[in-house]
Formats: sequence, structure tokens, C-alpha cells
Amino acid sequence: MTTADSFAPDYAGARDRFTAAATAAQGRLERLTHPEPGPDGGSVSCDVAWFGPAEAEALLVVLSGTHGVEGFAGSGAQVDWLRRSGGASRLPPGLAVLMIHGVNPHGFAWERRVTHENVDMNRNWIDFAAPLPENPGYDQLAGVISPAVWTDRARPEAEAAFQAYAAAHGPAALGVALSGGQYRHPRGIYYGGDAPTWSRRTQTAIFAHYLGQAGRVALIDVHSGLGARGIGEQIVTAPRTSDAFRRARAWYGAAVTSTRDGSSSSSPLVGDGLTAAADLLRHAEVTAMALEFGTLPGEQVIWSLIADNWLHAHGDPQGPLARAIKRDIRAAFYVESDDWKGMVVAQFELACRQALRALA
Ligand SMILES: [Zn+2]
Repeated sequence: MTTADSFAPDYAGARDRFTAAATAAQGRLERLTHPEPGPDGGSVSCDVAWFGPAEAEALLVVLSGTHGVEGFAGSGAQVDWLRRSGGASRLPPGLAVLMIHGVNPHGFAWERRVTHENVDMNRNWIDFAAPLPENPGYDQLAGVISPAVWTDRARPEAEAAFQAYAAAHGPAALGVALSGGQYRHPRGIYYGGDAPTWSRRTQTAIFAHYLGQAGRVALIDVHSGLGARGIGEQIVTAPRTSDAFRRARAWYGAAVTSTRDGSSSSSPLVGDGLTAAADLLRHAEVTAMALEFGTLPGEQVIWSLIADNWLHAHGDPQGPLARAIKRDIRAAFYVESDDWKGMVVAQFELACRQALRALA
């Protein structure tokens, strides 16, 4: 068994590896099946595994696949940890671990960042009864982000528009316009939706079912696609002045960043899942962190999302352009080399050790 074997070539393989590793580590498993099939017609699901005593008050919770295709990294990290750690049998007393595999399984199976509703799950955690957040920068750029027709001019035109926007408003404002989240363009990118997605409802139900007794929760949500290749940026969405941020710094170290103050590779977000986790678990002390593994340069990542969005919104996912577009989005979120996988599992294992030590 090598680290590379913990990573799978596709969603079905990832789920198989996870359920096998979780079973071997004496996990209690549950499968929550998604209403729509994967590209091969097979069923897709969010799979949950609990390790340790049912009444544990202190918990490490790990999420993979919030952003679908990013599940390759998160699943590999989860599987590798389960294979190496010994799972339930080696946990400190009074501690439990909850592994949530493929919380956006449809996106994982289709190798997309979004859910089957074309929603960015990490922008979907808003109150839809309240006025929707505005993103005027996205509105301004929407035409070049989501062109109806795909031509060789699409990329240079979009990049010229992005450069002009950054020149006028600054690079941080361009980041917010593109990736901060938007609620007006359902066929665009970083769309936060108009209602809670299947994935949000499923995660909410999992938290209610498994975490009602929790007193202290360390949440690690594994992502990929932002920052320097192979670095696992430790991102908190709580403000620097909050107890949650101070705890994250104390547990994980001085490199922890916040989306609220420009220290993170991530733009400030609306409707993110880390903030939502603290809201869902008001009875507990929640220390929530994203572990974000860098892949390719940001321009390539954004362009892969724009192309994949066009393919599914206006193009033919089975057509002649599909092969190159799907290859590019997969490469933007999953680096299929042993050194990158090694960096992912090592930094993930370190974070798990730090969380378990802090909880113990
Ligand atoms: Zn992500």
C-alpha cells in the first residue's frame, strides 16, 4: 500500500476506497444516496463513517468534496489517514472522528466544482428568506464569464475584461467579483443558488444526527485549487478577533489565514460552510478550518471553471469540445503526481494530529 493508492482515478473508485478503509478501521457507516446518477449511470452518494464512542463529546469532523471535483484530494487524504491511523482503535479516550465523504457527490462524480443545481455549495449557506447578497462586479463581468457561444475569442476577451476591471478597482475587487459568490446568474460560476441544495440539506441532516451531543468540534474541510502547488493553506472564515480564529492559530500555528482580512488566497466569501457549521452547532465550541491545497496558477483554474460552466450551460458535455474541457478542470483541482499526493496526505495528517491533540 502506498500513499498514491489512497487516491482514486474516479468518484466510484474513491467511494470504494473510502468504504473499505472505513470498514477496516471499525467505522460505523451510513450512505445517503443522491437523487441523480453519475455520468456512468451509477448511483452517487455522500458516505459517512463514525469512529469511536457514540457518546463522545469531543469530535474531529472531516469533510471532502464540498466542491465536487476537489474530492479527489479530500478523499485521498481521508482514505490515507484511515489506512495509517488505525481509526477507532487508536483514538484518545473520549474522542470520536466523523468522516463525511463526498458531501457534493454529484459534482465529484461529474468532475465539476458545483452541485447538480449548478450551485457552489460553499456560497449556498445563506438565509434565502432575507434579501440576496449583491455582487455588482460579477454582474458587470457576467457576459464574458458565461458567453453563450464558445469561440477562440472567448478567453482573450474575458482576460482583457478582467484586466480592465482589476486596473479600475484593484486585484482584490476582481477576486471578489469572480469568486466571492453571486446570486443573480444561475448559469454562471460561483452561483450561490436560490434555495438550500441537496448537499446543504444532507450536511445539515448529518450534523443534526451525529453531532447533537458534541461539546467541542474541530472541523476540517478539504479543498483544492487555490494557492501555491502542494501547500495546504489553513483558512478560517472567522474574523481575526474571534475566539474561533485564536483557537485555530493555537492549534494549527501562525500560518492560519482568514478570508476576512486579505491574508488568505481566498476572497472574502458569502454563504460559506465553515461559518454555517458554527451556526448549525451553536451548542458546541466549533473550530472550523479549510485545508486548501494549491494546484495550478489561478488564471488556469478560473479559466477551467469558465470553460466547464459553458460546457454544461450551453455546450454538449458529450460533444467534441468536452474532452479537453473536462481534462482541464480535473487537472485544475487534482494534480495526479505522487509528490503532490504526498504533500496532501502529510499536511492533512499533521492537521488531524494537531486537532486531536487540542481536543484530547
Ligand atoms: Zn474548494
